Amino acid sequence: MYLRELIQDASGGHYAIPAFNVFGYEDAVAVIRAAEELDAPVILATNPGAVQHMPFPYIAPILTRLAEDATVPVVVHLDHGKSYEYVAMAMAYGYTSVMFDGSQLPLEENIRVTREIVRLAAMRGISTEAEIGSVGYSDPSIQMKHEYSDPEEVFRFAEETGVDAVAVSIGTVHRMEVQGAKIDYDLLSRIEAKVAAPLVLHGSTGVADEDLRKLAATRIAKVNIGTALRMAFGKKLRHEMEIRPDEYDRIRLFSEPMEAVKQEALHKFRILGLGRDA
Ligand SMILES: [Zn+2]
Repeated sequence: MYLRELIQDASGGHYAIPAFNVFGYEDAVAVIRAAEELDAPVILATNPGAVQHMPFPYIAPILTRLAEDATVPVVVHLDHGKSYEYVAMAMAYGYTSVMFDGSQLPLEENIRVTREIVRLAAMRGISTEAEIGSVGYSDPSIQMKHEYSDPEEVFRFAEETGVDAVAVSIGTVHRMEVQGAKIDYDLLSRIEAKVAAPLVLHGSTGVADEDLRKLAATRIAKVNIGTALRMAFGKKLRHEMEIRPDEYDRIRLFSEPMEAVKQEALHKFRILGLGRDA
């Protein structure tokens, strides 16, 4: 399944598709079970940390096979590819969607590399996402600039690159553990007025439920969620280890944390306007 087809509809509709960051088999399966329960499309995303832990030759076949076997549309998406070579490698390993993150580069350079990636992806029918402005990190060990997107620049960037989806910086921050992001709705409206491409929100764990609901009805079509699932897994695993001090079997220890990931994913799907309780 390709991102392009999914998010065109989401961009115009009153819902958005979650892109969940996964780090291996357990959380990927949990997310797909949630999607299947709601009969909703989903995006499985791997960030540089996930790929460093489980390199492309191993994680790509697992995720692409899970996507093939799922009863709902599943996109296998590269999150925050930082170079042309890295993004090209993900394409070669079967990702159906890639993000090039040139947000730390000067605008001209970001446009130039994004355009090359869009050209390469087009030859293989792969969808593309790129970032303009820069969504920063709450993690002090990650030194990235934080810069709101400028509507004129977003317009120029979308026109000149032909990218399928544009990640914008409108108030969110990566790795937030509390829902404390202040969304600049005025800025979002000004971007929407100028730009036709579907928009992507990063750092969405930090966004309050009522804001996510509102944003799902805007041109934001893809909402990236990582920290919320990692917290659900980690907290439940810690609990399991505390209540079963003699348990050593990882299959048994992971069972409840996988369920916790599924429940958190179900919650996010519903907030984003997907599934029965929407
Ligand atoms: Zn991101």
